[in-house]
Amino acid sequence: MIEVKMKCKDLQARAKAPRLPRNPEPKEWLASNLSQQKIADYKPFNFVDGEGVRCSLYVSGCKFSCPGCYNKVAQNFNYGYDYTKALEDQIIADLGQSYVQGLTLLGGEPFLNTQVCLQLVKRVRAEYGHQKDIWSWSGYTWEELQKESADKLELLSYLDVLVDGRFLEAQKDLTLQFRGSANQRIIAVPASLKARQPILWQAEF
Ligand code: SF4
Repeated sequence: MIEVKMKCKDLQARAKAPRLPRNPEPKEWLASNLSQQKIADYKPFNFVDGEGVRCSLYVSGCKFSCPGCYNKVAQNFNYGYDYTKALEDQIIADLGQSYVQGLTLLGGEPFLNTQVCLQLVKRVRAEYGHQKDIWSWSGYTWEELQKESADKLELLSYLDVLVDGRFLEAQKDLTLQFRGSANQRIIAVPASLKARQPILWQAEF
């Protein structure tokens, strides 16, 4: 009887505990093992995924499993459609519009789809240099990415802005700019790489 009561208390405590995202060990999750190079969505000319008018690529697949994830279907690495040269050409053409400020990568998890994201950001830099900026969202924190695989660090090196960290329901705040929860940060990547520590991004105007 005492054992049954203890089990009930355990279950009640577990039910009350806040649901949390998963925390990988460094290099535990690799794009080379996980990515199916699928795209959940592509949204050209939007105003919500960063500063200015942006072209946003939503890659498929994420293992963080944040409770309350804004795009749960895109957690599946097989969701959506194949990344193709035709789509890449379309993104490059859309970015060429003078009113477009840049490219945004989100998902899903861009850093678990580095095959697609690296190919695209390299082409953006080859075609437009730094005339167009590149933003990415990630469930990884800046500090976690520093201990990650070479492909993730390479992708980071192409970014201008990283919005980092899991979505935490307990810190959800709908008033935050570009973020869903208060733990997430908007990081200026070139300055942070130079300083070897995260420097927060600030809007230019
Ligand atoms: S990191 Fe982003 S995409 Fe992945 S589960 Fe969390 S909220 Fe969803």
